[in-house]
Amino acid sequence: MKRLFISTLLILTVLSSSCSSDKTTEINGIKLKGDIDVHSAEFIDLPQDNGFVRPGELLEIRAKVTYVDSEGTSATETKDSVETNITQGQHLVSSLDSSLRISPDALSGETITVKTSLPEEDFQIFAVLTVRKNPADYIDPQGIITDFEAIDSLVNKERSLPSDYVPSDLVKLSVPTVLPNPEINQLRKVASDALSELFKAASAEGYSLSARSGYRSYSTQSSLYSSNVANKGIEYAQKYSAQPGHSEHQTGLAIDITASSANNQLTDSFGETPEGMWAAKNAHLFGFIIRYPKGKDSVTGYSYEPWHLRYVGKELAEKIFESGLTMEEWFEN
Ligand SMILES: [Zn+2]
Repeated sequence: MKRLFISTLLILTVLSSSCSSDKTTEINGIKLKGDIDVHSAEFIDLPQDNGFVRPGELLEIRAKVTYVDSEGTSATETKDSVETNITQGQHLVSSLDSSLRISPDALSGETITVKTSLPEEDFQIFAVLTVRKNPADYIDPQGIITDFEAIDSLVNKERSLPSDYVPSDLVKLSVPTVLPNPEINQLRKVASDALSELFKAASAEGYSLSARSGYRSYSTQSSLYSSNVANKGIEYAQKYSAQPGHSEHQTGLAIDITASSANNQLTDSFGETPEGMWAAKNAHLFGFIIRYPKGKDSVTGYSYEPWHLRYVGKELAEKIFESGLTMEEWFEN
């Protein structure tokens, strides 16, 4: 029985090799002999290695497939229409005929995974695409940003908010606050909800945080900046406060936090307190980043501010945290 099985196998092997040796497949003028296999395949127009795509971008789905025969001869061809599945981030794309359109509302940091199966082979190609705006596309010639309502908008010394911009969805904070001014005890709803979650998680681990300054209107920032210039000089004012329109606090997405271990003040020492260290390690899990990290003055334009958190959404916060980059650098790299 065993011998019979072996001889059957031998005959089959001989048969199949004699059959396949007769067959040739011509690809791009190259003749491949016998059975051919896919050696490698990749998308032509999609960025490789976890590359970036822009909101609104149109991407062709074409694949470059290299085949190889039993003698090691290879040939490459381009397949124009390959069947594509979106296995992650379906809501961020619309699929046209053999192309993908990234939604104009896609937010920086969101991820799309594209999978293609080659029809004649059991071979799949994947591309993991990360959405990233080009901030240069969202600014007018006066340096005023046009995406001021977006949670991934980049505001800094070169990029200002319109002077009349007031977020429409400001809410009163539901976390402990330090100062009585009702204006600054507000954030946009999405950021306020995330801050409540952050404080709750901190509290569950024994860390008690408080909020000191959230939303700040253009006119409040204007008086703050003038009083800093008057009391402490222009150099100090430029280093620690923003000119009106240039403060992230006007977005309603930035919040200064502190703790009783830092006397509820905004000082560098907050970064060394158990509460400040907890926040630096965990803020991204709730969609916040430490916007002005230590040693990045020349990039952000600001000295280290361990207390200043900016809400950018969980996906982007996680990407920025993992990269170790500032918001400016993440958009550029
Ligand atoms: Zn701040």
